[in-house]
Amino acid sequence: MRFTCTLCGDCCRASPVSLLPHEDVILREIAERLEVPYKSYNGYVMYDRVSGYNLAFSYVMDLIDGKCPFLAGNLCRIQNLYKPLICRSFPYIPRQVRYNIDSYNRVVYATVEYGLSLMCPVIKRDKSELERLGELNPGILSEYMPQEVEAAEEMERIRSLFLALLSTLWRLGVVDLEAGRPGAPVYNLYLFLARHYPDLPHILKIDRVMKRLAEMLEHE
Ligand code: SF4
Ligand code: SF4
Repeated sequence: MRFTCTLCGDCCRASPVSLLPHEDVILREIAERLEVPYKSYNGYVMYDRVSGYNLAFSYVMDLIDGKCPFLAGNLCRIQNLYKPLICRSFPYIPRQVRYNIDSYNRVVYATVEYGLSLMCPVIKRDKSELERLGELNPGILSEYMPQEVEAAEEMERIRSLFLALLSTLWRLGVVDLEAGRPGAPVYNLYLFLARHYPDLPHILKIDRVMKRLAEMLEHE
């Protein structure tokens, strides 16, 4: 038994898309260059007493007219450009993400629970067999949907990287964190970190995405 996406496009019409902060920057840029309407809002924030900003750890891309603005027919228009990690891991998705502050040790960390989305007709079809095998057994899932599990692992590696870099800044006294403050201005966490870690766009391969975008526009 192996997961194979049938390209029904249901997951691109079902709900807003959760993004890591660098993905909001990438998708906004792609949307602008491709002249695609794009609307997003920040999710979880933590307040930094030094800069006076709420740092945004996550974003949500809104559906427009009931579908993702990058959906063309049933296909993802940005498949080969930059497909968000949650789209690559779907239907294996983070069901619950909790960000935690350890003020004593000056550490920020996340606890994430993953699950399979029943919104996907393939999962609905395979559900009883998956349950029989132990649905969330990592070995079973890695065999059933290796690419999706790999994308989920990449998502968590990047989330952890952001939090580790931010925790380092906290220990250095560059930031001083607490729970989000209502009304404070919001700063995308990736953009904030990139000011202190200039290699970050390169580490996240954002420069390659922009190069592919420029090449694609040249050939259009
Ligand atoms: S809902 Fe499932 S089968 Fe349909 S496009 Fe999404 S992942 Fe593929
Ligand atoms: S980015 Fe692509 S895969 Fe993700 S929801 Fe939009 S069209 Fe679907």
